[in-house]
Amino acid sequence: MDLNEAVKKSLFDCEPYFRLTDEISLKNTGRVLKAFQTHKVSEADFAGTTGYGYDDRGREKLDKIYADVFGAESALVRAGFVNGTHALTTALFGTLRPGDTLLSATGKPYDTLQTAIGISGSGKGTLKQWDVKYAEVPLLGGKPDVVNIVRAAFDRSVRAVLIQRSRGYSDRVSLSAKQIGILSEAIHEVNPDAAIIIDNCYGEFTDDMEPTAYGADLAVGSLIKNPGGGLAPTGGYIAGRADLVEACAERYTSPGIGAEVGATLGVLRSLYQGLFMAPHAVAQSLKTAVFSSRLFEVLGYEVSPRYDEVRHDIIQTLKLGSKEKLIAFCEGIQAGSPVDSFVKPEPWAMPGYDCDVIMAAGTFISGASIELSADAPLREPYTVYLQGGLSFEAGQLGIIEAAKRLSNIS
Ligand SMILES: *Cc1c(COP(=O)(O)O)cnc(C)c1O
Repeated sequence: MDLNEAVKKSLFDCEPYFRLTDEISLKNTGRVLKAFQTHKVSEADFAGTTGYGYDDRGREKLDKIYADVFGAESALVRAGFVNGTHALTTALFGTLRPGDTLLSATGKPYDTLQTAIGISGSGKGTLKQWDVKYAEVPLLGGKPDVVNIVRAAFDRSVRAVLIQRSRGYSDRVSLSAKQIGILSEAIHEVNPDAAIIIDNCYGEFTDDMEPTAYGADLAVGSLIKNPGGGLAPTGGYIAGRADLVEACAERYTSPGIGAEVGATLGVLRSLYQGLFMAPHAVAQSLKTAVFSSRLFEVLGYEVSPRYDEVRHDIIQTLKLGSKEKLIAFCEGIQAGSPVDSFVKPEPWAMPGYDCDVIMAAGTFISGASIELSADAPLREPYTVYLQGGLSFEAGQLGIIEAAKRLSNIS
């Protein structure tokens, strides 16, 4: 089938799934809007502070708004989190004490977290160095192994259970907020003291509720992914049970200081506006993912998830089958970007990988993966991981540009 026809067919087939995405976006936008109104957001909240940042009304209000949106008691939203890993590490150190065990319920955690925990790399200041033990229940057929998770959580030294919502860069399913809630309930049943911490990266606003609304104790993520809506320039958040968020705040700044200080400088307006835009931006990313999935399936490639599968994250994988196609795809995504479109992405030996990796990202915010971006390790079966797209129009054009470049390779 020629590319024009394939695009037309894909758009037609995706229509019902686009509508589903719009419905979720409408619900999430409503919840965000209501929180803004409840807390009477006003121009003065964006002013920001310097120095110690005492009495920063905008900062305090944004914490409360995030708490409402996440169905949580409390939240800590800070541009001072350097990334998602920092926010997640803060949550782990805030929750765990020497002698405790951290249980990962969804197999190996995200790469950078393995280093923070101390199960890979030779990092200093890891949880392991603080005598926090680690246990892991591997996924069973790409899904949480509930029976063995509950069995492992029965150990009273388990004080935190880490659950990754998104598929990340692996071959597994993403989890719905509701599924996480059911799993949380089962764990709490045998171990009420265990704090259930959700690595919520890439999952925010893909469902009409967040895992914390279903009983998870903490949800943690990055502001240059979903909840920053493409506008937050940097940062992270932790939302959940008030006592745990407080413990995380004491760790984030200093015991006795917690969330009471922290100058916001000039960043608050972007964090507010970013959260306001986030449900829509996530919907645009989801549409881009659904469209790319259908288009590449129609063009004869293996894809995951398929366009008609339910999604709980914004990640799409396309199995391209050859190194040449992988590189051509990434070149197309880069060329179709609004920023650095003239740059040619090159494979490089990224630390932590056993082969070269190629990345395409022509983004306004450096490294923001809520913007259209693609990355791939250069190894069999030459799978590219695609995510983001601030507008489906631009996302669609980027995908078509990538597909065009592939069609020149046999
Ligand atoms: C992005 C991400 C993180 C955190 O990565 P940072 O680059 O530090 O923001 C953690 N877990 C998952 C599943 C992620 O996708």
